[in-house]
Amino acid sequence: MSSPLAASSASCMLFDKVLIANRGEIAERIQRACRDLGLKTVAVCSEADREAPYGKTADSFLCIGPSSAAKSYLNKDAILLAARLTGAEAIHPGYGFLSENAAFAQAVEEAGLVFIGPDSKSMATMGDKISAKKAMIEAGVPCVPGPDTALPDDPSKVEQIALEIGYPVIIKASGGGGGRGMRVVPEAGLLQDAVALTREEARQAFGSPALYMEKFLQHPRHIEIQVLCDSHGNAVWLGHRDCSMQRRHQKVVEEAPAPGIAPEIIGPVGAACVKACQQIGYRGVGTFEFLYEDDAFYFIEMNTRLQVEHPVTELTSGLDIVQEQIKAAQGISLIMTQADVQCAGHSFECRINAEDPESFMPSVGTITDISLPQGEGIRVDTHIHAGYRVSPYYDSLIAKVIVHAPTRAQAMEKMRKALADTRIDGISTNIPFLRALFEDSAFATGETDIHYLEQWLKQRSKP
Ligand code: ADP
Repeated sequence: MSSPLAASSASCMLFDKVLIANRGEIAERIQRACRDLGLKTVAVCSEADREAPYGKTADSFLCIGPSSAAKSYLNKDAILLAARLTGAEAIHPGYGFLSENAAFAQAVEEAGLVFIGPDSKSMATMGDKISAKKAMIEAGVPCVPGPDTALPDDPSKVEQIALEIGYPVIIKASGGGGGRGMRVVPEAGLLQDAVALTREEARQAFGSPALYMEKFLQHPRHIEIQVLCDSHGNAVWLGHRDCSMQRRHQKVVEEAPAPGIAPEIIGPVGAACVKACQQIGYRGVGTFEFLYEDDAFYFIEMNTRLQVEHPVTELTSGLDIVQEQIKAAQGISLIMTQADVQCAGHSFECRINAEDPESFMPSVGTITDISLPQGEGIRVDTHIHAGYRVSPYYDSLIAKVIVHAPTRAQAMEKMRKALADTRIDGISTNIPFLRALFEDSAFATGETDIHYLEQWLKQRSKP
């Protein structure tokens, strides 16, 4: 892979030891990127993850707390102490856990370490959905219709806002995340109760009662744009992904590029995302998430971190996004321009989860045997192996199967073969469900919306 970032500036903060504040497949992935860059690594674990394979290959491996994530992977003090004890100079948060916690990023900065991600200020701006929307409107990024201010307390004013937007509307918590803190309101009679309920949920779950309202789009696709920025004001976008295959707002299959979208429609949106990054002084990698309906894009949020689905963009752009993210955190300049970004072919990613393929209930236990697909254009990101124990404490994602081929149809065929070659014994996985999905004709045609998968599942479960 060629590298778009090159050391050319005196303001580099070159570090050579990185603490990976995460677990599972992403800890393994970050460790690989660090090693390829010649950096030393510190892996951390909870008691449940003492046997993690990346622990054996890391330069240091420390247990930072009990199995519960709240007491280990979410324990800021324990992670900072581990960095101090091992001499780590930078912390990579991965995704989930503390990756979008601006207070943690600030604590890392105050400890004199480098947070591998944006600075805590731009993270705080984009972490609050109202301030993010404001910043996006200022940068000319198209947003879902609705004000970029918090809902007032006065019920008649709230009603007026809903009337101006037009029903159905969606009420969202400004501090919300993970698909929580949202409520759809189909008609005026249900508005005030919905606002009261969501406000209370927001207060309890996110510590802030601030809400906002926007138009509820009925048949959108979920399309996102990957950006890469240095700390010197240079930024590019690395193409787009379609993540519309969702169950309960959780992505199941992702692909790049998003099928059927003309370059002249997406081009200006990508350029606006780059401009937004430059305006907020964003550093590292990030993702702008959009709903896409009737040829129009509507910004919903920015993820200020590496995403689970980054490999589909790696395979189409030919870049190692994790290495570039680390180099951006080192202060290295981006030398590539937008014209140098050349995406080619089509890529799919399937999330392999330890769960029942019918009920989707999590499955725990020991993997007795495993066989993973191999071959040209096939990649598997995982930390599991025969004898690995899947514990009940964390997310059920255990592997990602990723394929790349010249066309979408060829990539689908390659994924069918890859899934046929994937066998994980001893626990239940969603592999049978993924195999069935890749036989579906509407999915094969492309351009299905965010509700498609749930409708497909309902249809399948009918006797
Ligand atoms: P979170 O931060 O909790 O993930 P998002 O704002 O990204 O919240 O929204 C999560 C999901 O909720 C979206 O992927 C989409 O399925 C749905 N959603 C959010 N806003 C809207 C909207 N205005 N219209 C229709 N669906 C929406």
